[in-house]
Amino acid sequence: PKQHLAQFLIDSAERHPEKDALFFLGKKLTYKQLLDATYRLANSLQDLGVKKGDRVAIMLPNCPQAVIAYYGALLTGAIVVQTNPLYTERELKHQLNDSGSTLLITLDILSKRVNKVLHKTEVKQTIFTSIKDYLPFPKNMLYPLTLKKDGLSTKVDYSTTQHSFKRRLAESPNTPVLVEVDPEKDLALLQYTGGTTGVSKGVMLTHYNLIANTHQTKAWSYQTEEGKERYLAALPFFHVFGMTVLMNLAMLQAGMIILLPKFDAETTLKMIDKMKPTIFPGAPTMYIALLHHPDIQKYDLSSINICISGAAPLPGEVQEKFEAITGGKLTEGYGLTETSPVTHANNIWKKRKLGSIGIPFPDTEAKIIQSETGEDLDIGEVGELVIRGPQVMKGYWNAEEETSRTLKDGWLYTGDMAQVDEEGYFYIMDRKKDIIIAGGFNIYPREIEEVLFEHPSIMDAVVAGIPDEYRGETVKAFLVLKTGAKVDEVEIDRFCRERLAAYKVPRSYEVREELPKTLIGKTLRRKVVEEELAKYK
Ligand code: ATP
Repeated sequence: PKQHLAQFLIDSAERHPEKDALFFLGKKLTYKQLLDATYRLANSLQDLGVKKGDRVAIMLPNCPQAVIAYYGALLTGAIVVQTNPLYTERELKHQLNDSGSTLLITLDILSKRVNKVLHKTEVKQTIFTSIKDYLPFPKNMLYPLTLKKDGLSTKVDYSTTQHSFKRRLAESPNTPVLVEVDPEKDLALLQYTGGTTGVSKGVMLTHYNLIANTHQTKAWSYQTEEGKERYLAALPFFHVFGMTVLMNLAMLQAGMIILLPKFDAETTLKMIDKMKPTIFPGAPTMYIALLHHPDIQKYDLSSINICISGAAPLPGEVQEKFEAITGGKLTEGYGLTETSPVTHANNIWKKRKLGSIGIPFPDTEAKIIQSETGEDLDIGEVGELVIRGPQVMKGYWNAEEETSRTLKDGWLYTGDMAQVDEEGYFYIMDRKKDIIIAGGFNIYPREIEEVLFEHPSIMDAVVAGIPDEYRGETVKAFLVLKTGAKVDEVEIDRFCRERLAAYKVPRSYEVREELPKTLIGKTLRRKVVEEELAKYK
C-alpha cells in the first residue's frame, strides 16, 4: 500500500486530472480542481497553526467541502475527527473534548449550536463554509434536524478565530503539502463508534489501516477499470462505512462521486435515473426505503451494477427484490468502526449466500471462540467472532482498559455472536449484549425479527428482552406495520409459533408508528428497552 492516505487523491489527480471527481447538485469538480482546493485548504490549516498529530474536527454533511476538508487535514499530518452534523450540544462537546480537537471545520448554519459549545472545549479556530459558498445548497437538501433546531441562520461573526472557508481557500496558495507520516504508527483518524450499544468511543485508525481496507475492498468487490465507476454517496462520509467504501475507494479508483447531503428515497431515485451511478453502497434501511417508494417503477435504475450493504443485517427478501429491479448485484458485507470497517463480504463474482456476511477479506483472519475461555469453536457452533488483520484499529483513544478488553494478541473481540459453515461463510446471530436470556435459554432477537419480517403486514420490527420476575427476561416485539395493514395479534402469534420454538415466541407485541434509529439506520434496541423500562417506574 501507499504511504499516506491522501496519496489516493494525489495519484488520481495526476493520472486523470480532467476526469470528474465530484458531482454535487448540478455542478462538477474535476480531480485537478479538487486537488487544487485541497492543497489550498492544507496550506491554510498550516497557516492557522495545525501541526502533525493535531486533531481537526470536521462536522459536515456530504458536500465538496467535506472531501476537501478531509484530505486537506490529512495532508498536514493532522488526525481527522469526523463529527455528525446532527449531534446535539452535549454530544458535540463530548466528542470535541474527548478527542482534544483544536480546529473545527463546519457549516455556517450550524454556527449557533457550535458557538454554544466551543468555549467549553480546546477548539481555538473554526472554519465555516457557507451553504452558498461552493455550490447552491437547496433548503430541502439540508438535514431536517438542523432546520428545526437552528433555523436557517447563516450569520457568523468572522474574526481572527472564526474564518470563512471560501475566503481562506482564495487567499491560500495551491502549493503541494504532504507531511510525511509513519503509516503504521501515525493516526489518520479518530473515528467515533455509532453508539448503538452505549457511549460512543474514539477508535484510533492509522493511515495503514485505512489504506489497507480500501485496497481490500477494491480487491474483493470492484475489480473494474480506473476512472470508469460512478459512486452514489447516500451514506455519509462522517460514518466509517461511507468514508472507506465510498470516499476512499472512489479516490483510489479515480471514480466520480455523486454526493447526496442527506438520504431521501425520492431524491435518490431521481439521482440514479439522471446521473446513472454504477455503484451504490448503502445500509439496509436505504434499500428498504427505496423498495417501498410508490413510484419506484417510474425510474430507470438499470445503471446500478453493484450495491454493498453493511452496518446491519440485510433481509434476504430485500436483496432479491432490489436485484430484480436494478439488474445489478446487492451483496452483504460486515464490519465495525474498529476494523476500518470491512472484514467480511460476499464476493460479487463468486458464490454468495443469502443471510451470510460472506467470507473474510484477503489477509484477514476470523474465528469463532468461546469468549470466556478463548477456546476455538467448531463449525456450526455459536460464539464470539474475533478478527485479526491489517484493518484492525490501534485501540480506543484515552481508554486503555476498554482497549485491553477488546484487543487481545492482535485479535479484535467484536462483541458479535456468530457461526461459520463448512465452506467458511460466516453468519451473525446478534450482538452479545442483545442476547435475551429467558428461563435459562439464550435467545437471539435477530432470529425472531427475521420471522416477523416475513409477515406480509409487518414493515419493521425489533425484539427486546423485558425484565420478567419468573423467567429473568421475556421476549417482547415492537412492530411497525405496512401502510393500511391491520394487526391481529393472534394471527402474528400463530405465525411465529409455526416458525419458532415455543420459548422464542414473543410473549407480547406492541405496534409503533416508527422505531428509533441511528443515523445510518440501525434500530436502537437499547432505546426501545429504556422506554419500556421507564413504563414500569
Ligand atoms: P457502538 O459500538 O458505539 O455501540 P455501533 O456498533 O453502531 O456503535 P459500528 O462500528 O458502526 O458501531 O457498528 C458495528 C456493528 O454493526 C457490528 O459489531 C455489528 O453488530 C453490526 N453489523 C455490521 N454489519 C452487519 C451485518 N451485515 N449484519 C449484522 N450486523 C452487522
